[in-house]
Amino acid sequence: MAELNAEVLIIGAGAAGLAAAAELARSRRSVVVLEARDRIGGRCYTRQEPGLPIPVELGAEFIHGRSPPIFALLKKAGIAALDSSGTHWVESDGELRARDNLFPQIKRAMRKPNTLHAQDVSFEDFLAKNLRPKLSADALAFARMLVEGYDAADRTRISALEVVNEWTQGGGADIPSFRPLGGYGALMGSLAQSRRFSVSAHALQEMRALFTADRADEQEAAAEIRAWMREADYCIDPHTAVALAVAEKETRDPAVPMVVLSTAHPAKFPDAVKAACGVAPALPEWLADLPKREERVTVLPVNQAAIEKFVVSASRAAREGAAA
Ligand SMILES: Cc1cc2nc3c(=O)[nH]c(=O)nc-3n(C[C@H](O)[C@H](O)[C@H](O)COP(=O)(O)OP(=O)(O)OC[C@H]3O[C@@H](n4cnc5c(N)ncnc54)[C@H](O)[C@@H]3O)c2cc1C
Repeated sequence: MAELNAEVLIIGAGAAGLAAAAELARSRRSVVVLEARDRIGGRCYTRQEPGLPIPVELGAEFIHGRSPPIFALLKKAGIAALDSSGTHWVESDGELRARDNLFPQIKRAMRKPNTLHAQDVSFEDFLAKNLRPKLSADALAFARMLVEGYDAADRTRISALEVVNEWTQGGGADIPSFRPLGGYGALMGSLAQSRRFSVSAHALQEMRALFTADRADEQEAAAEIRAWMREADYCIDPHTAVALAVAEKETRDPAVPMVVLSTAHPAKFPDAVKAACGVAPALPEWLADLPKREERVTVLPVNQAAIEKFVVSASRAAREGAAA
């Protein structure tokens, strides 16, 4: 077995393990997460089926209520929460039909004085003795489905008192619920990215012998754009500006020429360029009619394989018959 070189070992790459690992990594701790399965996520298991534009959840699906920890994680990951309220549909005898909202009547029936505090019973017994006389067959079936589906509980064993307390004290099916855009898998994938990696001292030394690197922030890039406009009457884009700012910081043999490879046209960033030097960069002549050209949109499923396939099929290499 490979030697593990980490300060913390986490067993299990479910939501809890991944969230803990991400938090530790943010605090600059080295972490190894050991997962028994060949995938991450644990009871969060999102499938992207070919041809289906939406994810299919085989495990957790909903965010129940505006859960602050989950919303904080979504915000960090840049993932939207989709409001999942609206009509629910059920399939029966091969037909889809809108389901009435049965939860309010279940809740009302539960609130009536009961004897659970004196003696708790199983939810199934409570259903049979207390709720059956007050509820329709559909509502009873829905209550059973909630206990089995949402609480993953055996209704002949789970405490009725617990269920009544949960459902009548703000934890029921009537609180707003949401789904992470792209499914829980998207959130698990983001948590799995610690955004840190380590490089051995030897590899770092080898790299430093060949490369140097530096950075320039927004203000430095804007100052560079301004300076080039003022001194050379030449409009550069923010990418080129970063490269030029870094090139100027570089202590080098002045006899060795420095080549800056610019990567974009300033018209790609009109607002940033105008803010920096007051000049609104015009599109090059061959693109001058760009705003009037027909807009083409292809909607793709949230699925990496489908996106890769599309990029390859739309690439110039594919048109020229050179793509794999
Ligand atoms: C069908 C279903 C629907 C659900 N719906 C919702 C929902 O809509 N909303 C909601 O909030 N919650 C829902 N849940 C509950 C939610 O999925 C779980 O609470 C949550 O995913 C638990 O995360 P966890 O990290 O604590 O545990 P787990 O997800 O169980 O992760 C534990 C991980 O540890 C690994 N592991 C265990 N033992 C070892 C070992 N010895 N060595 C290495 N690895 C090990 C496991 O393989 C697993 O990957 C649902 C659960 C299910 C099953």
